[in-house]
Amino acid sequence: MDKVKVVMWGIGAMGGGMAKMILDKEGIEIVGAIIGHPEKANMDLGDYLGIDRKVGVLTSTDAKTVLDSVKADVCIIATDSFVKNVFPQIKMAVEHKMNVITIAEEMSYPHTIEPELSKEMDRLAKENGVTILGTGVNPGFVLDTLIIVLSAACRRVNKIRAARINDLSPFGPTVMRTQGVGTTPEEFEKGIKEGTIVGHIGFQQSIPMIADALGIEIDEVVETREPIISSVYRETPHVKVEPGMVAGCKHIAYGKKNGEVVITLEHPQQIHPHLEGVETGDYIWIEGDPNLSLSIKPETPGGIGTIAVAVNMIPHVINSEPGLKSMIDMPLPHALMADIRKYIRR
Ligand code: NAD
Repeated sequence: MDKVKVVMWGIGAMGGGMAKMILDKEGIEIVGAIIGHPEKANMDLGDYLGIDRKVGVLTSTDAKTVLDSVKADVCIIATDSFVKNVFPQIKMAVEHKMNVITIAEEMSYPHTIEPELSKEMDRLAKENGVTILGTGVNPGFVLDTLIIVLSAACRRVNKIRAARINDLSPFGPTVMRTQGVGTTPEEFEKGIKEGTIVGHIGFQQSIPMIADALGIEIDEVVETREPIISSVYRETPHVKVEPGMVAGCKHIAYGKKNGEVVITLEHPQQIHPHLEGVETGDYIWIEGDPNLSLSIKPETPGGIGTIAVAVNMIPHVINSEPGLKSMIDMPLPHALMADIRKYIRR
């Protein structure tokens, strides 16, 4: 059997990590590399990634030419967070008969935000005989898939609460800005009102995904965002936070039925949480029969977690029935320790 062929579209922090992970695996190869920075076009992908080998694939900003010139099983899109922005890229890849995996947060359960575009993506995928999947560490895994899988050991589930307490320090200026890190409390409040500070993207996907999977009815998802005010000095290469300023955003979402909270997902994100004695971790508490609790300490790393979940879904996406899918339509996700071709049912 031929090696599994992948086109990478968007090769930044996450796409670059996925490319390196793929290059380390047997039975899979990268055949196209679509990037966003013209000054880095026409480089061997190995040089672009800063690794010690040539890949034999040149980077390009011309998506159409790349997709026209190769045949691939999967196109991995890691360019953006929003359905509207990745839709044209997904459409182009699907029309080239490629399955799509994207880490755009809204794509993890896109019909909650974009019902019409979701219908169109499902139609396009079926017409072209391919599958589209949105995934990642969160949304895509920690605050949805993992909760859903844990609930399998329950005879009944009454309520779910989960928290992902993480450290934003490794992230760049975009994340600092959208989380409000380094603002004053007044600037934070203004940013929330104006929509420049958004906190986490994904609660509008994760809560409906959990509810649909378990058959729990909810009628609204309500979100709150509060500043995490620092009492100590904190600093990263991209931001300085004096005492009294904002070190992060405590973002909570409630899935409610008739005003009663059924699912609570908490995501306080800040830089250097250890400076105020906060340990990172992922926690799930299911109230039901039986009660269950799960702790992962420290947190599942956001970068590696996203890279791994996306790449590990490649065989499931290739094997899937055509259409727009989410993690709850896929077989159990897992690591890929064998030659990738062993997982493919042609
Ligand atoms: P990044 O900024 O490091 O990389 C994005 C890359 O895409 C950049 O190199 C940019 O040049 C490129 N790009 C943008 N538009 C392009 C286009 N039209 N054609 C080709 N390249 C293009 O960001 P990242 O950390 O790699 O994350 C990528 C996206 O994934 C972000 O929107 C992020 O929020 C999301 N994300 C989701 C999850 C999840 O768990 N679902 C996790 C991490 C990141």
